[in-house]
Amino acid sequence: MTSGDAPDGGAPRPPAALRRRAERADRLLERYYGRPARHRRSDPLSALIGTILSQHTSDINSHRAFARLRARFPSWGAVLDAPVEAVVDAIRPGGLGVLKARRIHAVLRRIVSERGAPSLGFLRRWDGPRARAWLRGLEGVGPKTAAIVLMFALGKRAFAVDTHVYRIGRRMGLIPEGLSVEAAHRWMEALVRPGRHRPLHLLLVRHGRELCKAGRPRCPLCPVRGLCDYYRAAGRRRGRPLRLTASRSA
Ligand code: SF4
Repeated sequence: MTSGDAPDGGAPRPPAALRRRAERADRLLERYYGRPARHRRSDPLSALIGTILSQHTSDINSHRAFARLRARFPSWGAVLDAPVEAVVDAIRPGGLGVLKARRIHAVLRRIVSERGAPSLGFLRRWDGPRARAWLRGLEGVGPKTAAIVLMFALGKRAFAVDTHVYRIGRRMGLIPEGLSVEAAHRWMEALVRPGRHRPLHLLLVRHGRELCKAGRPRCPLCPVRGLCDYYRAAGRRRGRPLRLTASRSA
């Protein structure tokens, strides 16, 4: 059992002090980057297939693959009826075409065989845990893919932990040492206050791209450095705090 798993296998229970730290970080990040744009919920099946296409590739490539798939086939039913080679060809810009085409076919087959039509609309009526469990039962659907569909397309409580979120969470001390990426999804979901899951996820992804980069984080510019374990430890190693000069325009 990882440190983030509750003994009964249910939701983890982060300490109140850590929840307050996450809330302060959320406020500071939003003040620095601005409020993430509101978005219309996408169709859940499109979100699921788009997320499968995004695995192990860049946003640009996966968006191209998704656009080609939609342009080539008039419906998800038509994708299911098409030979796998035709799907591979359509999604080629996204990489891993054979693997992803087989996953898409397997997902569509399962949905149609269970629900009678290629749609995930039924998940809207289910509660979050049940919807998550069903999604996780699909081939190639891990915790991140399920959380993205739950969070962005179904409006359920979930928190997707991508490479940026995990790195920042670990550096700041929001995600405990030793907690796996998989377990970090439920941990972050419990840590973040209701209604802030989607915005904070987007803020952390942006922060990871702009300042808290994998190679060399730009800590002196960071709006949450006062809450960050990595920053404090770096200051101790140097025998003094890092220089504080942050502002958005710096
Ligand atoms: S202080 Fe540095 S390591 Fe900490 S969150 Fe900011 S950029 Fe990342």
